[in-house]
Amino acid sequence: MPRALITGITGQDGHHLAEFLHGKGYDVYGMIKGQNNPRAAKLQEEMPFVELIPGDLADLPSLVAALQIAQPDEVYNLGAISFVALSFSQAELTANTTGLGVLRMLEAIRMVGGAQNNPIRFYQASSSEMFGQVRETPQTELTPFHPRSPYGCAKVFGHDIVVNYRESYDMHASSGILFNHEGPRRGIEFVTRKISNAAARVKLGLQHELVMGTLDAKRDWGYAGDYVEAMWMMLQQDEPDDFVISTGETHTVQEFVEKAFAHAGLEDWEQYVRQDPKFFRPAEVDLLIGDSAKAKAVLGWEPKVGFDELVKMMVDNDLALEAAKANRS
Ligand code: NAP
Repeated sequence: MPRALITGITGQDGHHLAEFLHGKGYDVYGMIKGQNNPRAAKLQEEMPFVELIPGDLADLPSLVAALQIAQPDEVYNLGAISFVALSFSQAELTANTTGLGVLRMLEAIRMVGGAQNNPIRFYQASSSEMFGQVRETPQTELTPFHPRSPYGCAKVFGHDIVVNYRESYDMHASSGILFNHEGPRRGIEFVTRKISNAAARVKLGLQHELVMGTLDAKRDWGYAGDYVEAMWMMLQQDEPDDFVISTGETHTVQEFVEKAFAHAGLEDWEQYVRQDPKFFRPAEVDLLIGDSAKAKAVLGWEPKVGFDELVKMMVDNDLALEAAKANRS
């Protein structure tokens, strides 16, 4: 059985990827940080097949130990401070985890190595936030980076160091430049889930307004379940490389709000939504739209879930969750 180690196992993508790899017959190991991580118990309940190993991207010896225990064929580095807003207030932590964490994992892989004829393959979770103030539209693997947040800057470092280690040490290290991807497992702090959850709670009479930052930003939103398949596909290639993973469609935050509220049966969304400058970022990313033609041609990857279906999936999930919570209390 192939073996995979996933960092960021408790996050949205970690859940989806663990399920996906388990379905493919992998032994799945997940790195878990902290001495009493509150998300560990829930994860084990949902996915008892995942073997949890302690470790932190800020701590090289723990990464070496995790690799020695898991002995993986493939490492998926999904762990990060991934919330752009938090990266502005905790920029150093973000640089250390999201940026330097990649370097540490690459070094750990070089130290542990893997089987002689089967060196460890590495996937890095790069991000469309690296394009920031975009230099061209749509964005491809060749579009120059211009990050607009400490998160984006840290991801650029992570991306570049993967290219450097691939070229310097002949490592099988690939990066997926993933555009925003969402779903019912998205953390509540992220804008799409904040919206779907608010639409559900307003519908159920549990909340009366949704306070937002910018409504004008445009994003290329796909479904996380589709995107983790692309990660796996990259590591099955003979040669490592970088791939943009996106839908090729862009929508404003306002469109997400409109569709979410309408799906919850609330046509007049403006009645419930208020903007507050406290949610504006010091520097905003106005427009992201990706061109994933290379992934289609080389990997045979294409997104399956469209924007409307994604919004509905998230609102339906939050309606069910919030109704169940209300019934329990
Ligand atoms: P997420 O839900 O925020 O999950 C982040 C994960 O990183 C959590 O499991 C978290 O663990 C872990 N983590 C944080 N600090 C760590 C540390 N010091 N050491 C080890 N693990 C640590 O993120 P996601 O949406 O699943 O995204 C997965 C990856 O893809 C991230 O790197 C993200 O930046 C990148 N990405 C995401 C998107 C997107 O739209 N979702 C787009 C492009 C790129 P705890 O639960 O213990 O805090």
